[in-house]
Amino acid sequence: MRTVNNPPFRNAEGGAKPMQENRYIDTRGCVDQPVEFTEAVINGLADGGGLYVPQHIPELTLDEICELAQLPYAQRAARIYKAFGVDLPAQVIDELMAQAYGDNFDDERICPITSLDADTHVLELWHGPTSAFKDMALQCLPRFFSASAAQLREQGKLDHDFLILVATSGDTGKAALEGFRDLPHVSISVMYPDGGVSDIQYRQMATQRGSNVNVWGVRGNFDDCQTGAKNVFGDAAFAEKLLSEHGVSLSSANSINWGRLLPQVVYYVSAYSQLVADGKLTAGAPLDVCVPTGNFGNILAAYYAKRMGVPIDMLYCASNENRVLTDFINTGTYDVSDRPFVLTPSPSMDILVSSNLERQLFELTGRNPEAIADWMADLKQQRCFRVDEDTFKAVREHFAADSVDNAECLRTIKEVLDKHDYLLDPHTAVAYRAAQNLRGENPVLIASTAHWAKFGNNVYRALHDMQPGQPLPENVAALSGCGLNDLVADESGHHDVPRGLAELDGLPIKFTEVIDGTTEDIESATERFLAALDNE
Ligand SMILES: *Cc1c(COP(=O)(O)O)cnc(C)c1O
Repeated sequence: MRTVNNPPFRNAEGGAKPMQENRYIDTRGCVDQPVEFTEAVINGLADGGGLYVPQHIPELTLDEICELAQLPYAQRAARIYKAFGVDLPAQVIDELMAQAYGDNFDDERICPITSLDADTHVLELWHGPTSAFKDMALQCLPRFFSASAAQLREQGKLDHDFLILVATSGDTGKAALEGFRDLPHVSISVMYPDGGVSDIQYRQMATQRGSNVNVWGVRGNFDDCQTGAKNVFGDAAFAEKLLSEHGVSLSSANSINWGRLLPQVVYYVSAYSQLVADGKLTAGAPLDVCVPTGNFGNILAAYYAKRMGVPIDMLYCASNENRVLTDFINTGTYDVSDRPFVLTPSPSMDILVSSNLERQLFELTGRNPEAIADWMADLKQQRCFRVDEDTFKAVREHFAADSVDNAECLRTIKEVLDKHDYLLDPHTAVAYRAAQNLRGENPVLIASTAHWAKFGNNVYRALHDMQPGQPLPENVAALSGCGLNDLVADESGHHDVPRGLAELDGLPIKFTEVIDGTTEDIESATERFLAALDNE
């Protein structure tokens, strides 16, 4: 058994900790002056293309970690934010957290833990408004984004508002819409591939409420959406026009934003304290964590929790058939030069370039921005980079990885239902299987990233021993997403479809516009949306 050795942080009085000072530097060493939290959140990406990281990672004592369990989740989150140093008034942080983690979640514990046996714990990160783990960050970041914009305006550092432009393959778009709706200083437009998302995903977006939201279908696939958005972001003349005519600049609020990562650190610290409070873990005992990984944000958050002093031992990185991260952790070479992009039952992990890995490598090199800049240049030019031996050793010290193929993923859903009467979504199933393959003596916490009812079609396949991608029987294929979920609920005995998903067939469709994915079309649709907002 490994021991986790972190020097505890204590302030002089040993009492409640004051707000820490902290600023943000970047992973490639391009930013001259470290910036405050609010600026890091508003900027998203640092100048020079690097990612923001805090100058200091705060450390908590074991007592401080365990005490968190006595607080409601929102206050746990506020405490972690204050430990990291956020340049917003403490009272504002408290209020924003109360809004982010309140009755918009369907469980007052926010992310409850279900234990399958004495040593296997599932952290349910999908009790938010869109039933996917993106809510954990996207109920929080938008509020801090909006409050940061307000404060920077007051300080005279900002003179415009923002339009968030998101290209989505399904889940992120909905979570972003729900997070940004009705906030001041910001509006949001989401583009999805028309005909390329599930019925549930389509309805989740097309029925979105809110006064500052907009949704377009785009003729084409997700790649077309993403390329279109990229081109719009790169159009300087358009940016100029938006600013002068609407007082708005574009932002993406995507998963490399530090403001999306920090809320994820919170739930790992919180989960440890909860396991101890519930008598499932002895205070100080090591815990392994297994995360279904795509962009590397979620597992990176667990690493930061470990650095804060949470007794996390191994971090298990679970991949689907897109196994670039598993190969990297096992070999030290990150290679996408000759790697096909595979469609899987866990689409939110279908990824080739995991942007948050950059932060992880920055930490594992002992914060060496030159090394990071070199590797990222290699990745761009050769679609491949290899880390040095010391860094690879550091990777192996913290991480182990495994990939799970599509058939194994579906088999695992059935197996866990039969064995534990618990219904996993395909992403969590990948993590469960990887955890079983990798685990040692320590108890394991599995990050569960979606409710099964977001992926009812593949859960249906799993329950019926069907192959991945096999066409559903005609009468099942004819059902709406809600109808299919009802069927799966009846067959599995799990009548726990979240209300936000169960009611979708009955909600009015608000957005029907379908546009071409050209720069011109997206830009003119953007202007129409902003003009309509200006007229309100
Ligand atoms: C986004 C997502 C993931 C991957 O998380 P990363 O932080 O990108 O690694 C896994 N599962 C689900 C359901 C997701 O939506």
